[in-house]
Amino acid sequence: MIVVGAGPAGAAAAIRAKQLRPRARVLLTDKADFPRDKACGDGIAAHGRDELALLGVPGLIDDHRPVRRLAVVSPGGARVAATVARPNHVVPRMVFDARLVAAARAQGVEVRRHRVRELAAQSGRVLLDGRLDAGTVVAADGANSVVRRLIGVPPTPARHTAIAVRGYADVPADDDTQFIAMQRDGWPAYAWSFPVGDGTANVGFGMMLPRLHATGRPGREVLHGRLAELLPHLPARNLRAHHLPLSPGRPRPGAGRVLLAGDAAGLVNPLTGEGIYYALLSGRLAGEAAVEAAANPLAAYRRKLAQALGRHLRTTDLLSRAAQSPGFIDAAIATAARRKEVFDLLVEVGLGAGTVPAPLALAVARRWLWNGLRRR
Ligand SMILES: Cc1cc2nc3c(=O)[nH]c(=O)nc-3n(C[C@H](O)[C@H](O)[C@H](O)COP(=O)(O)OP(=O)(O)OC[C@H]3O[C@@H](n4cnc5c(N)ncnc54)[C@H](O)[C@@H]3O)c2cc1C
Repeated sequence: MIVVGAGPAGAAAAIRAKQLRPRARVLLTDKADFPRDKACGDGIAAHGRDELALLGVPGLIDDHRPVRRLAVVSPGGARVAATVARPNHVVPRMVFDARLVAAARAQGVEVRRHRVRELAAQSGRVLLDGRLDAGTVVAADGANSVVRRLIGVPPTPARHTAIAVRGYADVPADDDTQFIAMQRDGWPAYAWSFPVGDGTANVGFGMMLPRLHATGRPGREVLHGRLAELLPHLPARNLRAHHLPLSPGRPRPGAGRVLLAGDAAGLVNPLTGEGIYYALLSGRLAGEAAVEAAANPLAAYRRKLAQALGRHLRTTDLLSRAAQSPGFIDAAIATAARRKEVFDLLVEVGLGAGTVPAPLALAVARRWLWNGLRRR
């Protein structure tokens, strides 16, 4: 098996395959050497840590301080700040991804620097760049996946694509709140500050790609400008931007003997922009399918993915449509501020594999309607 891309999705796929079949030959390729940086908010949800445990590396980020508080301001100014049911972590990707790759290597995975450019299907095998040959390829090459294009799966459309810039800023060392400030201007859009625990925080700003294009101004100017404007007390250095392919609800998991995982499969949560957990999860499932169902890995992978995330992906798709109206999010955050169980549920949906029970959907819809009527 060959894995293209050694981010969280690719590393998880390689580790899982070796875990299940220690004698299998697993090659993990990446165009970069590790450690390498990746534009990201560095927020790793508790659910991501569950995945690390399943991959046999439960302590991978234990030397980083847990972040227990989450504060969110809605586009209309509703606020909630509470302790999360299970703490999140903020680990710079420069560190996190390199540790995962090292874990894969320790498991016996061969890690090689190689940029994939060509792919051919040949009598039940896949040939990469005319010389790397495998029964199954896991494509985990990120948001702008080359392999996805080579197998004929269309890229995530612009209306489902966000773009975000992140940097690092100095904060008090005891800052332990992940802060998200949603923006009515250019909605859906938000700025964040995620403390790393070492006196710095990952700060950033993201918005939908069509909204950025509609400004008619250079992307860099808009993203850097909005970040500086929204978090003026946290001047950021080392700014870096990247696309986020948001889940459309029913992702295409691959074609032939190629399985798409993580951002290459377009699995970023459309409500929050969180993608690391979904990358680890889908990578693990792709690795499992590759070794357990060598005859038809794609069918096995599709089944596993649907079982793990099917209802969740349909839920977030539906909610992200409702959230096109900022009033819906105002109502959800206002409800969460009054009811801790709603706050916890929203965290499950935004950062995990949660779904929404009908009574909660009704409670939010009622408040949304009520707020709308009051405004009139
Ligand atoms: C600004 C920003 C903030 C974000 N904040 C968060 C956050 O706080 N929490 C969160 O959970 N998610 C966040 N995300 C989303 C998260 O970064 C992604 O979902 C996650 O990185 C996906 O992991 P991946 O392994 O699928 O892809 P990636 O991490 O992108 O890894 C892909 C790898 O493939 C390699 N590659 C690419 N092309 C090739 C090729 N042709 N050949 C070989 N190798 C190749 C790349 O070098 C890279 O190492 C954020 C995204 C952005 C842009």
